[in-house]
Amino acid sequence: MSVNQQAHTGPPYGQPQPGYHGYQQPAYGGQPLPGVPQSQYGVYNGPMPGYQQPGPPQGYFPSLGFPAKGSPVSLNSDTSTLAPNFIGSLRAPPTSGAPPPASGASLTSGHVAYSPFGHGDVQNGIPASAAPMQRTPASQPFLPGSAPTPVSQTSTLQQYGPPPASVQQLSNHMAGMTIGSPAASAPPPAGLGYGPSTSVPPVSGSFSATGSGLYTPYTASQGPPPTSVSQGLPLAQPPFPGQPVSTQRPPTQVPGFAPPPSSTGVGPSSYPPTTGAPRPPTMPGPPLPGQTVAGPPMPQPNHVSSPPPPSTMSGPHPGPPMSGLHGPPPPTHPPQPGYQMQQNGSFGQVRGPQPNYGGAYPGTPNYGSPPGPPPPPKRLDPDSIPSPQLNELPPQQKPRHRIDPDAIPSPIQVIEDDRSNRGSEPFVTGVRGQVPPLVTTNFLVKDQGNASPRYIRCTSYNIPCTSDMAKQSQVPLAAVIKPLATLPPEETLPYLVDHGESGPVRCNRCKAYMCPFMQFIEGGRRFQCCFCSCVTEVPPHYFQHLDHTGKRVDFYDRPELSLGSYEFLATVDYCKNNKFPSPPAFIFMIDVSYNAVKSGLVRLICEELKSLLNYLPREGNMEESAIRVGFVTYNKVLHFYNVKSSLAQPQMMVVSDVADMFVPLLDGFLVNVNESRTVIASLLDQIPEMFADTRETETVFAPVIQAGLEALKAAECAGKLFIFHTSLPIAEAPGKLKNRDDKKLINTDKEKTLFQPQTSFYNNLAKDCVAQGCCVDLFLFPNQYLDVATLGVVTYQTGGSIYKYAYFQLETDQDRFLNDLRRDVQKEVGFDAVMRVRTSTGIRATDFFGAFYMSNTTDVEMAGLDCDKTITVEFKHDDKLSEDSGALLQCALLYTSCAGQRRLRIHNLSLNCCTQLADLYRNCETDTLINYLAKYAYRGVLSSPVKTVRDALINQCAQILACYRKNCASPSSAGQLILPECMKLLPVYLNCVLKSDVLQPAPEVTTDDRAYIRQLVTSMDVAETNVFFYPRLLPLQTKADVDSDSLPPAIRNSEERLSKGDIYLLENGLNIFVWVGVNVQQGLIQNLFGVSSFGQISSALSTLPVLENPFSKKVRSIINMLQMQRSRYMKLIIVKQEDKLEMLFKHFLVEDKSLSGGASYVDFLCHMHKEIRQLLS
Ligand SMILES: [Zn+2]
Repeated sequence: MSVNQQAHTGPPYGQPQPGYHGYQQPAYGGQPLPGVPQSQYGVYNGPMPGYQQPGPPQGYFPSLGFPAKGSPVSLNSDTSTLAPNFIGSLRAPPTSGAPPPASGASLTSGHVAYSPFGHGDVQNGIPASAAPMQRTPASQPFLPGSAPTPVSQTSTLQQYGPPPASVQQLSNHMAGMTIGSPAASAPPPAGLGYGPSTSVPPVSGSFSATGSGLYTPYTASQGPPPTSVSQGLPLAQPPFPGQPVSTQRPPTQVPGFAPPPSSTGVGPSSYPPTTGAPRPPTMPGPPLPGQTVAGPPMPQPNHVSSPPPPSTMSGPHPGPPMSGLHGPPPPTHPPQPGYQMQQNGSFGQVRGPQPNYGGAYPGTPNYGSPPGPPPPPKRLDPDSIPSPQLNELPPQQKPRHRIDPDAIPSPIQVIEDDRSNRGSEPFVTGVRGQVPPLVTTNFLVKDQGNASPRYIRCTSYNIPCTSDMAKQSQVPLAAVIKPLATLPPEETLPYLVDHGESGPVRCNRCKAYMCPFMQFIEGGRRFQCCFCSCVTEVPPHYFQHLDHTGKRVDFYDRPELSLGSYEFLATVDYCKNNKFPSPPAFIFMIDVSYNAVKSGLVRLICEELKSLLNYLPREGNMEESAIRVGFVTYNKVLHFYNVKSSLAQPQMMVVSDVADMFVPLLDGFLVNVNESRTVIASLLDQIPEMFADTRETETVFAPVIQAGLEALKAAECAGKLFIFHTSLPIAEAPGKLKNRDDKKLINTDKEKTLFQPQTSFYNNLAKDCVAQGCCVDLFLFPNQYLDVATLGVVTYQTGGSIYKYAYFQLETDQDRFLNDLRRDVQKEVGFDAVMRVRTSTGIRATDFFGAFYMSNTTDVEMAGLDCDKTITVEFKHDDKLSEDSGALLQCALLYTSCAGQRRLRIHNLSLNCCTQLADLYRNCETDTLINYLAKYAYRGVLSSPVKTVRDALINQCAQILACYRKNCASPSSAGQLILPECMKLLPVYLNCVLKSDVLQPAPEVTTDDRAYIRQLVTSMDVAETNVFFYPRLLPLQTKADVDSDSLPPAIRNSEERLSKGDIYLLENGLNIFVWVGVNVQQGLIQNLFGVSSFGQISSALSTLPVLENPFSKKVRSIINMLQMQRSRYMKLIIVKQEDKLEMLFKHFLVEDKSLSGGASYVDFLCHMHKEIRQLLS
């Protein structure tokens, strides 16, 4: 038996790097944890910081690390060749121009190693949860255990020397030359990037602050709500079968729900019925299955797809863009009696008037809480939105106020509740089917047999036993997997396990890897597979006796028996051509056409690379990175550079025959940075000079990728291409493109072509790249359309990343670009990766979403997979599941580390199974559901009209909620919208997806933006999709406590929440806006912007000035904190109220209706309610 465990002895670069301090990463998706020491490297570093030991002793004793119970573990690994079992990388270099120092002060951290199993609270295997956990207001019970403390861990290292490069030099089609050094060029200014666009039309008009927004709150001056309703009013709520018409509240058995007193019409207001004509009150009582609702139950296929005609209906209509930025003012008069039919703006269909818009009620700020004396406990009735009854409604309020926005489920409230309820305790993974805290909550994870939610999140942690149930619910069963996710320093990295020459122990039949759910039988001589039930002999070297409970006595010593996530060292059988891989290579390929040179980009990249190359990813305490580097520049032709260490000057070789790309040199092209430091520095100095006077505007693109691919092939290694590209490749070459942008295709059946590549050439190229392990990262700097949909194909299918800086301007965009580049170069990445998800009998993985290539139906192939990339996997039933055994997932990722070590990372997760739909709905996670639905929809636009995709989304969600209403909610009025607690945000989040630029583009959004966003979202994790679709909006003046380290509490994304006298931050993972109200105190403006008045604030700022006062420091520190939580550096945009950029900002106020026709949250909720009622009728 040998579990090789060694301590991580330091950051991947051996030394802390002070220059990188600016890139701290204090938190993981949410606010920083109070009391948790913040790593100076944080998330970008991967887990390394947590493993830094103050001195050798603790960290060097593996027995302190993994094995518990004081049992020493055999140490058969050499501590002198420590390697992390995580492909580590460091934080990005500083944003300023100063090159990061190569070394710095030593890091110390006094973490005490601990045993994750030192408390005897883990039983053999993973216990089925006696009581399925669900997210409730109450604190969750956790298994006893101490707070996770970093554990030192060790790993073995296979030392690989760089493979000998063949010394072969080709000479045809090329000219060798020594590079001279001409003059420099100056970067010109350009336009704005994605985000604010110069095409944003100026917007005028006054801003309505709170109180004058779309929904006027009911005030006491409006008089008490009447207790009866004028019967003749057509807008009165038409009673439905099953809807009580008396003043008596309908019974509702939703646990904990207390219906509001009828006398005051408390609580959320009613929802419009599906039909318009009032009908006589009949059949009080709950709706019965099969009961039909009178009236035309029209399907609503055209939600928000076309602007409806203006309507006299009160309330906001997501109609055509209006002048100014707010919705129509609320009418001062209710619709007249006799008004029968009209269009309800947002949903594009003729329907009846909207009765019963009871709207706001005084004293009911909280959703669902009765206004009466003793206020109910927080979230007493999270499950339902009751409708006030007819006679409770003030008639004059109905048409006017519709629904009180405060009375509908609030994302902010849900996030805050989860934070306060679940943020304080570690999430211990020992119990099957536990729903983890939300991604917006900071929590620590303690692995006790299931993978951390940082690696896997599911749409539901309790899945239906049968396919029929699953179909009935329409809840997609999906897992969002981030196999190489970065962990906070306080958590334990997956251990590296070596099963010796025969490789990891696996099931004979299904090849599942040894895991905590395997059952050892016959005294430990055999084990039964938890996935396929096949019995396999235990290899002699792996044999161990069982204790009286049937548990192997080495249970706690073996990560693969007791933990959810771990790694195996792969044997040569897991390598291509049965040969251990060489370390990967990075090739930097720089567009040197006119635009790239003129903008200063070429010089910027070359300057940056000089320092950045010192920070290539490396493992453990290796002194230098094993990654070799190469350089190519190109316009219509390609220039390769020989930077062999023995040369005095770099040599350039030009390949002008781009039709049949080859690499003109092998020896000297890919080199070790340290060995060739001088030559590389010389090259990077000379490149900007060489092309300073270029007049070449045309570029090629596919040959660039081909060149990189060929170079990696020749070197027999995997690697990554970093391509810096500026324009549509129109030069004569393979993969040449034409400008086929056509925004007129929007909302036509041909819109899908905008998302499809214009040629299949790149698909074939991608396939070749994946076969070689050639991952392509693309940095785009377009000044016009360059066809991201086509250029991104190879990046997308090789697991690479795309970054886009439209109208790149050196002054305003260089920080963002450099931060992205630094992080991209340094982040953890695995190469030549193959991922397979195995499941226990009854379900199987059927569909996959993400940036990868699949050559068969089961294996997800990625030339590169980095720590940010996520794969969403959908499961379907192929048999019945049982409540007893639950369902198991095992995700196995085979990859090559940055030092060339072949490894398998295994993540296991056990889920509960249910025979009652209510159990499914109680254990869902809406954020994950939205992640899946967005990816599903964003893939759908490749093949279906966008409108069809939107309709399908709405329909599926309506079915999900209708199924709950029908099967799980207590009988109640059809006029009530009842949402499952875990899904009460589904409507608001779904609406955000529907309104997103891919599915409903704002006018200023370009075709490239849409293709870019589509690809980005496809690889996002749950935290990223959450903030992308529902941005975080933080008030700075009134709520930000300058003395506190925490972020101010967020507010809902609606214009009416903004005060003219405050300053706000809004972030969505790509942009940060600073919105300044017109009435902000002069002192604050002075403190934040260093100018004396609102009018002097410049919208052109890309950073806030550094001012020495508490408010400035606080705001800048908040921005810093937000930047560090995201995988991309966000563009900072200053928005002054009533300025033209405000329209762009308002695009992100997602609870409001959008200028492109997207419904407001309130309208959409009404629409969903109608859809649900139609399904139930
Ligand atoms: Zn098996």
